[in-house]
Amino acid sequence: MSRHCDPNDIALKSFFLGPQAENAELVTHIFHRIVERWVKWRQTRFCEDGRAISAEDKATPEYRADLKKIDSMVEELMHRFESEVPKFSPRYIGHMFSEISLPALFGHCISLLHNPNNVSAEASRVGIKIEQEAIDELLTMCGYDPNVGTGHFTSGGTVANFESAVRAKWRMSRWLSIACIAKKQGLWNGTYFEAANLGWSQHRNLRDQIDFSEENSTESDYFNLSPTHASRRLAAELGDYKDPVLLIPGHRHYSWEKIAVLLGYGKENLVPVDLDQHGTASVSDLNRKIDWCQNEGRPIAMIVSILGTTEMGLIDPIHDIQNLIDQYNMTHDLFIWHHIDAAYGGFFCSLKDSHDFVDEKFKRDLNSVRSANSLTVDPHKLGYVPYACGAFLVKDKQENQIPTQQTPYIDFDENDSGHFTLEGSRSAAGATATWLTAKTIGLNEAGYGRILRRTIEAGRLLRLALEENIPNVHIPTSADTNILCFCVGKSGESLTAVNERTQRIFDRFSPYKDNDFYVSKTEIDLQLYSAFLEANFPDWFPNKDSARLTLIRVCLMNPFFTSTEPNVRYPTVFAKSLAQFLRDSQRQ
Ligand SMILES: *Cc1c(COP(=O)(O)O)cnc(C)c1O
Repeated sequence: MSRHCDPNDIALKSFFLGPQAENAELVTHIFHRIVERWVKWRQTRFCEDGRAISAEDKATPEYRADLKKIDSMVEELMHRFESEVPKFSPRYIGHMFSEISLPALFGHCISLLHNPNNVSAEASRVGIKIEQEAIDELLTMCGYDPNVGTGHFTSGGTVANFESAVRAKWRMSRWLSIACIAKKQGLWNGTYFEAANLGWSQHRNLRDQIDFSEENSTESDYFNLSPTHASRRLAAELGDYKDPVLLIPGHRHYSWEKIAVLLGYGKENLVPVDLDQHGTASVSDLNRKIDWCQNEGRPIAMIVSILGTTEMGLIDPIHDIQNLIDQYNMTHDLFIWHHIDAAYGGFFCSLKDSHDFVDEKFKRDLNSVRSANSLTVDPHKLGYVPYACGAFLVKDKQENQIPTQQTPYIDFDENDSGHFTLEGSRSAAGATATWLTAKTIGLNEAGYGRILRRTIEAGRLLRLALEENIPNVHIPTSADTNILCFCVGKSGESLTAVNERTQRIFDRFSPYKDNDFYVSKTEIDLQLYSAFLEANFPDWFPNKDSARLTLIRVCLMNPFFTSTEPNVRYPTVFAKSLAQFLRDSQRQ
């Protein structure tokens, strides 16, 4: 007898191979066709050239010996990968990866077979067009206008974040440069701080007035100068030079440290924004810090908000942050680059028009993304696309153009994004995977939205199962999305003891060996998260003998974690398995 399921779920079931390879037939059929087409592509191209490998060649002992070697090593490689972390299973609830979708897998493989290099159209006739179409799909999903915005695929979120910081830096250097000349010619009399956040309209205004025929009145390229050289010149020309700062919440991804260091800002100028009771960026602290920058004359290189924090999947108050930035723009004429690091949460934007599910704050924040200057989104996280696939989006094409290195041997077309990417050679596989995903599943409420809703629901179900089965479990209530963090401990117990217990739970469900479930863990700073911890754990008073709290972290990305068709109910089975472990370890 067939078991019934929600018609909503049926479509979803064709998008993945399934935990038991339920869609094996479909996958085999399509892969077979992909290879067949690929082979035919070759056979019908330059076929009058004749064959380079003959039937006689294939009969030689050397040929046969090589073939045997390839055959056996393929076998060995496949065998070795059988010990890989089984990320496809609903029992894997550790890091931000899980199943890959079938359209993404097919798209990725089709691209691999043709091996385009998206550095330029010369190396990728089709791949580049697919990339632009996929970028348009991502722009639309996030609320940007694809006629105005643009972007490109990267190897991941780290590089996409770098792309944003480079653009913010380039924009600032253009503004500083024009202000310097205008000041020299007596056309403008602002401060160094004002010059750094000048805005394009004033930039244009000054450019129109400047007499470029005057001696030494060419724009300086601060972007290309060493930080020492640039700062000396700026100090001489605008006076009172002080280092710019990056205002980024304390729960940021560690890529921002690399960015601060490698772009020459210095780690000390990465100023963390405090976290509020929701564990997200405090708008009042951000306000204080912008004021502080203004009073100190420290230009703001960029403000970053996070849509889906790496640790807990939390969403910064993007709407309120954007409002604050807009206010400074209106009252102080400040133009500050706002970047959204949505490496994890970007795909939640597919739910931005949802009427019946997303809570109001969540929805407002998703709909404010479109006002930010740029955004990072990783299809290789919540897009269920194979590695390596990230994307950088920018609201306004004009702000995407950074000074480019010209190379005589690449025939760049003016539309090629290869001019403006930090990476050189780039695979088209990520773009193609995302393209096929967008064209089949759809980057909207009815497509991805449906999958992501399930994952959020999975978080709720697991929370209930844990609360029912684990005495003294502590799960923050303000978890927004599909990541759950928790620990187990009694009031009065020392944090060291709680952390040791969390470590034991991690060891029990660690991905280093075969297990029934796999989780990940993280450690949060008590001071950074103090308001959050107080608001979330009002009845838990541990003895704070440690400055950090270790938490088990589960990412509920697998679309089948809440399926009712298999013989196991994963949320309950996991909670019971954990409860059993805790009972056993208590007895010892
Ligand atoms: C994962 C993540 C990144 C980095 O992305 P990679 O693809 O691992 O380079 C950046 N920011 C956030 C918020 C992330 O979750």
